[in-house]
Amino acid sequence: MVVFSTDYQRLVNSYAREEISRDGIEWTIANFFKLMIVVGSENFKGNVRNWVFKLLETRPGVELIHKITLCREWFFVREGHCHFDYGERSVFIDLRVNRERFGFKNWEKILFEVPFEIILAHELIHLLDALLNLEKALSDFQTSPDLLSRFFPNKEELKAITGLDSVYDPLLPLVEVKDETGKKGIYSFTAVSENSFLAAYGLPLRTKYDDAATDEEKETERRLKQIHVGSLLTIIVENCKHRRQKAVLAH
Ligand SMILES: [Zn+2]
Repeated sequence: MVVFSTDYQRLVNSYAREEISRDGIEWTIANFFKLMIVVGSENFKGNVRNWVFKLLETRPGVELIHKITLCREWFFVREGHCHFDYGERSVFIDLRVNRERFGFKNWEKILFEVPFEIILAHELIHLLDALLNLEKALSDFQTSPDLLSRFFPNKEELKAITGLDSVYDPLLPLVEVKDETGKKGIYSFTAVSENSFLAAYGLPLRTKYDDAATDEEKETERRLKQIHVGSLLTIIVENCKHRRQKAVLAH
């Protein structure tokens, strides 16, 4: 797991909570739906539409949807193993995907389910990167990150998930990142990333690419919860007994 600096967390959180400007939102919505061609059942089409509206309730969602719309290019959304296909310019979403993850929130490890709209946002970020600079997106997709290659398979995934880009941009804030050995790297912070969506929802940030909760982890979590609930119940029962005894004594 990458340990993100407080600088990084502060940037992600403050961006996610920035006030949303709704100027031109009707134009964005009307044109975005003309460019996005959803292929699949009526149920799938309805779901995708609802996810887009949910994304538009968030600060990073408004920016992401607006930027894609400005590119004025068609793209597809299809059902299938979650990924972005550069050749077909298609976003694939799997309705049976494992969305359970572990993460730290207020220092507490929690098991949570990633909302579908955030999975869609992740793939739409790959789409936007491809629309803005296909050559860079493809090259990033084929290159390991300089520092965090144990956690992210390539630069494009690192950027889509964390917003960290190794290309220096004078207009963007710089963030220092450390790996587990203490080795440091400097990255440009691009605001729209999966983590800014997770921050907007108050969910733990994603710290690695492969982070779906395994069955073994889920089982451990369930057992721990049962023990926790079990011991809580014992305490409540003991307290009641104690109170009853006191009540008996008082009368
Ligand atoms: Zn991805």
